[in-house]
Amino acid sequence: MDALWKQYPSTAIGMGYFKYADELKIPDATEFADDIRFTRSYLDSLHAMEFAKLSENNRIDYLMLQNDLYGTLWYLDTFKVQEWNPAMYNLGGDSYEIISKQFAPIEKRLMVLSHHLQNASAYYQAGLANLRQPTREHTELAVQQNLGSLQIFDQSLQDSITASSLTGLQKDSLRHNIEATKAAINSYVADLKKLLADKNYSFRSFRIGEQNFDRKFHYDIVSDFTPKQIFEKAVTAKKNYHNEMFRISTELWPKYFGTEAMPADTLMRIKKMIDRISDRHVTPEQLFDTIRQQVTELQQFVVTKNLLSLDSTQKIVVRKMPAYMSGTSLASASSPGPYEPHSDFYYNVSDLTAMPREKALSQLREQNYYILQILSIHEAVPGHLVQLEYSNRSPSIVKSVFGNGAMIEGWAVYSQRMMLENGWGNNAPEMWLMFYKWSMRECCNVIIDYGLQCLNYSKDDVVNLLKNEAFQEEAQVEEKYHRATISQVQLCSYFTGSNEILALREAMMKKQGEQFNLKNFHEKFLSYGSAPVKYIAQLMLNEN
Ligand code: ZN
Repeated sequence: MDALWKQYPSTAIGMGYFKYADELKIPDATEFADDIRFTRSYLDSLHAMEFAKLSENNRIDYLMLQNDLYGTLWYLDTFKVQEWNPAMYNLGGDSYEIISKQFAPIEKRLMVLSHHLQNASAYYQAGLANLRQPTREHTELAVQQNLGSLQIFDQSLQDSITASSLTGLQKDSLRHNIEATKAAINSYVADLKKLLADKNYSFRSFRIGEQNFDRKFHYDIVSDFTPKQIFEKAVTAKKNYHNEMFRISTELWPKYFGTEAMPADTLMRIKKMIDRISDRHVTPEQLFDTIRQQVTELQQFVVTKNLLSLDSTQKIVVRKMPAYMSGTSLASASSPGPYEPHSDFYYNVSDLTAMPREKALSQLREQNYYILQILSIHEAVPGHLVQLEYSNRSPSIVKSVFGNGAMIEGWAVYSQRMMLENGWGNNAPEMWLMFYKWSMRECCNVIIDYGLQCLNYSKDDVVNLLKNEAFQEEAQVEEKYHRATISQVQLCSYFTGSNEILALREAMMKKQGEQFNLKNFHEKFLSYGSAPVKYIAQLMLNEN
């Protein structure tokens, strides 16, 4: 693992491993060739082991490592993301981690930052030189996110430098490196803006096509299902959710509309009910306090209902989303890496007060009174932040490090249904209606991801689906379309992972009969760390 982090110091920073944080790899052809050499050599070492002689737990690690190494080769020599995604070149995230994570005294961290930034200019030049016909969408994203990164080097960092006990010379050199970094970012952004302004420049399509999609799904998701099968399952799920929503809307009708006639059309009836219930939402100013309160209540619920034991020392901090992360979603979770198990867990929330009022209110109708609770279940308790805390406790560093996105998202999605099944929201029909509306997102995520990338769906196809069939607000639809053009496969992870977890729970109930206990199932499942569900299922189903 140490060799891996030496090879990829930037990935290491994201994991909370700061030993090589002062180094910055220049992303040029020499470096990519070295990555390939490194990967092949570790595949050889791995294959020298006798798989059959490994413990079951180590077999999972073996398969996860092998998958990651093959994936690395594919990303570099076939998918070639370094040639078309200018947003992968950004020094903001690592700089932010170095400054904000308490891995050493502030003076030490400032010196690490100073070294880290010393070749910023070469870094951005190499990035620019790698680009061969980028997509317009990733070019725009690179501009937006790199401009966001500039904020990391603003006044508050300058104040920390002034207040620190570094020598005058050290301060000067750090300030010099920061200025040079800002200049490199500005120059990179200017070059990208030139491309964007050039009417004759032909950007590559953001659609990666079925063949690449299949491979990416294979490496990123690790499931027994093919993308096409998941797509078909999602289409079926959409039908089932519509049936449930129609039933609930009909039942709730008199409560909200009295004797007013019900629309005969299924989707119209559901839409009218959702619109009415969405009126109940917080203001942009109340958002942070509401979410803090929810986190506390969710923790109490999980414990009193015997769903899962929680680490009482885990501290969940609700904070304003850092600028370098912004641009993709309203809320997100960030946890300490596997090497820093005692630092804080963050529930990042976009500051809607800074947004045009109309846009903010549209987002809050979408994240209304009911959905906001489901969002907090997903991001925080017992979703991401709880799962990641369990994962960091897992004895396998491989599983913590090579966390499987479909298992992670699958767990967060599974928690939503599980919490409601156990009485969160008191079985209110409104809560269930909104649950199905929210769940519609996950199956539509699959439909638009696969549809856009493989089936040539147009933007209109996506907008119609999300607006008319998934009842989403305009702001949400725009955000989702944007996200579906800058990511691939990731949107399938929610639906795929949660389906696999539900199937495993069913299989365990069948296997254990009377002995089945939900709390034990959850704790056992999470104890393996963030491994692909299909590998966890093999272990759990084989155990006596
Ligand atoms: Zn999530």
